[in-house]
Amino acid sequence: MDTDVIVVGAGPTGMTLANELLLAGVSTVLVDKLARRSDLSKAGGVQSRTLEVLDQRGLLEPLLATGEHPVTTGHFAGIPLPLQSERHCLPWRSVPQVVIEGFFERQLAARGLHARRGRELVGLAQDDDGVTAAFADGAALRSRYLVAADGAHSTVRSLLRAGFPGEPGTLTIIAADVRLGGADPSTSHTWSEDGHWAALFPLGTDPQGRQLRRLVLGGPDRSLPREVPVTEDEIREGLSAVFGTRVHLLELRYARRVTNASRQVERYRHGRVFLAGDAAHVHLPLGAQGMNTGMQDAFNLGWKLGAAVRGWAPEGLLDTYHAERHPAGAAVLRNVRAQSLLMDWAGTRDPEVLAAREIFTALARLPDVQHQLGDLMSGTAVRYPMPGSGSHPLVGLPAPDLDLGPARVHELLRSGRGVLLDPADRFAEAAGPWSDRVDRAGKGAGTEPVLVRPDGYVCWAGEGDPEPALRHWFGEPR
Ligand SMILES: Cc1cc2nc3c(=O)[nH]c(=O)nc-3n(C[C@H](O)[C@H](O)[C@H](O)COP(=O)(O)OP(=O)(O)OC[C@H]3O[C@@H](n4cnc5c(N)ncnc54)[C@H](O)[C@@H]3O)c2cc1C
Repeated sequence: MDTDVIVVGAGPTGMTLANELLLAGVSTVLVDKLARRSDLSKAGGVQSRTLEVLDQRGLLEPLLATGEHPVTTGHFAGIPLPLQSERHCLPWRSVPQVVIEGFFERQLAARGLHARRGRELVGLAQDDDGVTAAFADGAALRSRYLVAADGAHSTVRSLLRAGFPGEPGTLTIIAADVRLGGADPSTSHTWSEDGHWAALFPLGTDPQGRQLRRLVLGGPDRSLPREVPVTEDEIREGLSAVFGTRVHLLELRYARRVTNASRQVERYRHGRVFLAGDAAHVHLPLGAQGMNTGMQDAFNLGWKLGAAVRGWAPEGLLDTYHAERHPAGAAVLRNVRAQSLLMDWAGTRDPEVLAAREIFTALARLPDVQHQLGDLMSGTAVRYPMPGSGSHPLVGLPAPDLDLGPARVHELLRSGRGVLLDPADRFAEAAGPWSDRVDRAGKGAGTEPVLVRPDGYVCWAGEGDPEPALRHWFGEPR
């Protein structure tokens, strides 16, 4: 073997995964076909659950120190959701994807991992022992596992002939990074009477202190084939259709067309090859979910691959990646579908859609509805199915703050190992044989016994015996 794991694609998914693998002590090769990192910003928002997991790795503070990354309000189908600060300890932040990628690149480099750039994967073969990856320059690498984090047009997915069902793109909208002049539009989404719409999100400031924004434009006649370059005139005309003369374009930094294709790979695992991020799921970028979902795939998979490589993975652990992340991805695709219908993003002005939107907008003023949507959009509503882990209401959910405060819970997970919270100090002996993979936090650690996986999800809680759960999730004792 040249390495334990090859990660194909150094986007946010691949880099997050590489970081998790390093933490798990796994030798990793990260390859990308691009000669240098792309400087195009795509994603602009990081959700609560991603912020929480970054904090669990000690990465949040240094990430936020890279610049001005304001807390932003979320939205569902363009209907603003108020800040959920009393519900989510870390409300959404505006952090451009390009910043996240640069941050992870430096993190990895500091630990000796440099992406091998200009290396395009073109061939793949696997057998009982490992995977052989072939590259366009004629090189080949062999590893025990390979992860496809190679984006929406994944080569690995094609080579596997993996089923990728869903709907093809039928329309496009424009996404652009801009500087604007004129009045500051007060809401993130604005519609004109005739169905044109614009969405604006803060992207922070450039080195000269000038405000940058993500602009998304849609509406009737706005949909051109993806390959057609976006022009400045088109942006000016789109702004004028929505804002009249109130807002105007000062500078266009980058623009692209985005389609509404919606697809999800049938199986996230193909033997020793796993798919993650956009390679596994594509959808319209609505509500800042694509990059976040990919990073959550990586947090879910990293420690499991670590366990397999280090030889303690219990039977079936690697299969839980598909069992847990496929439903999470499918839920994102569903909420994006609902949003694109309610947003009338094609600008049809269909009276039935407008009527549904009116009622939905009124409902979204109710606190319970806001909580429901806020949880859905922030990634905190994800509950992993964990058959055989008991019926305690916390099982499958992100570790709550357990009266310790979120900071303390996150700190306990910093090592990337499992954590057994044992407030009554009852399980020192029982947990001892797993002490190489699970840390035990005794007296004062919360209010009830809870076993938390390295990715921060509760896999057992209650008054009984934690040993079956330790065995189930962390394998045979030493
Ligand atoms: C306009 C826009 C706005 C968005 N806004 C948001 C947002 O606010 N929040 C959010 O969460 N998401 C958002 N998204 C989605 C987000 O950008 C993607 O979900 C994210 O980039 C997926 O990350 P990834 O690492 O899985 O794939 P990618 O970022 O696509 O990275 C894949 C990498 O693989 C490399 N690669 C491809 N093929 C090969 C090969 N054969 N060999 C080697 N390397 C290869 C590529 O060069 C690339 O570097 C937005 C997307 C767009 C287009």
